[in-house]
Amino acid sequence: MSSAFRQTVRGMRDLLPDEAEKLRSIEESARELGKLYGYREVITPVVEHYELLAAKIGEENRKRMYVFEDLGGRRVALRPEFTASVARLVATKMVSVPQPLRLFSVGSLYRYDEPQFGRYREFWQANYELFGSSKPEADAEILVITDDLLKRIDLRSYHLKINHVGILRGVLDGEGIAEEQQNNVMQLLDKKQWEDALSLVREAGGSQRCLDSLRSLFEIRGREPVQVTHEMGEVIGGFPRALEAVKNLSGILSLAEESGAGIDFYVEAGFARGLEYYTGMIFEIFATEMDIALGGGGRYDKLIELFGGGMVPAVGVAPGIDRMSLALDKQEVVSRESAVERVFVIPVGEDMVSEALKVSSLLRGEGFRTEIEAMGRSVSRALSDADRRGITHAVIVGAREMREGKVVLRDMKERSQETVSLKRLFERIKETQ
Ligand code: AMP
Repeated sequence: MSSAFRQTVRGMRDLLPDEAEKLRSIEESARELGKLYGYREVITPVVEHYELLAAKIGEENRKRMYVFEDLGGRRVALRPEFTASVARLVATKMVSVPQPLRLFSVGSLYRYDEPQFGRYREFWQANYELFGSSKPEADAEILVITDDLLKRIDLRSYHLKINHVGILRGVLDGEGIAEEQQNNVMQLLDKKQWEDALSLVREAGGSQRCLDSLRSLFEIRGREPVQVTHEMGEVIGGFPRALEAVKNLSGILSLAEESGAGIDFYVEAGFARGLEYYTGMIFEIFATEMDIALGGGGRYDKLIELFGGGMVPAVGVAPGIDRMSLALDKQEVVSRESAVERVFVIPVGEDMVSEALKVSSLLRGEGFRTEIEAMGRSVSRALSDADRRGITHAVIVGAREMREGKVVLRDMKERSQETVSLKRLFERIKETQ
């Protein structure tokens, strides 16, 4: 075999047990949380029609899709996000399901991004979407569930950067600038190219008043939602649709604050996102130690209509599982997995193997993660192996003790051991954890 095959394809990763465990544990938290908020899981295909995925994803992301022709000659692509697939479901198979509709998905996505820290070509996301409500409480719910997920995985220090696309688009609409050109402006803003964005607005026929308002907007940012939204309102006074958007954002932020979640917001008036389908509030998650977003979301009220499903307002969030895991590493958060007991059952000699198998089954029956010594090693060698592998408790099964219905339980951390009856074994493991 050529040595090239010994490596993964560029941008693709093997996740070894420690990493896989971390990702799955975040995934599990995301699933539990979804259920807690009444979101039901949907599983959509990894391969979709190119046109569906390309519809409103934005130029930058469109260029990075894995596109190919299947053997039937269809132009298909690997999904770069969940929203288009879930919106397709809502517009077709779930069109008569009563709203509001709360759906979530968890799985892998594919983008031909340039591989670097936190940027892979295959990555995982959780995704929560609330369909059917255009009320600010729906937006606030998405913000609260996002914050709850970050708390649940024990991330310590983060904030949500937030804005409303209706503010910038409201100003551009007011000048009669076409949607296509607005999208190009948004793409530049997403990359923080403020001056280029202003030049584009000028080229598109934006007036001096509009350019001045935008320039002032781009400078408004801060942690005080009331103050910041007030300042926003002042500079876009001449653009009624933009003003409406500011009011909407301010209402959402008030509700989120009043919910008591204690979310740390950073309102930034010049912040935009590359995805074209957003129509309202937009936000991204940032951990203090990282300058790449851990997740993003917002309101997209026109996507379902685009897919032929009527006017269904929607708001959602996509937290990136890989990046949340990286942030936990940076903040040195110890995985909850490491707090779980791991039991290792060691038979004393070959004669005790079948007894050891029985004891292992009993332990697993009680829910303990249990491995058995499978290499025929002596007790001392098996114990030193257990030490290296993070085992918390060893259960030594010897003939003498077994005759009395007992085993030796060794607490690996304390390096102490006791002889206990099988009946007391489970309790003692829990007590010494
Ligand atoms: P987006 O769908 O672009 O809003 O992205 C939402 C989240 O998905 C980001 O904040 C990241 O956490 C994650 N994400 C997007 N692209 C990548 C990538 N290439 N590698 C790893 N995570 C990604």
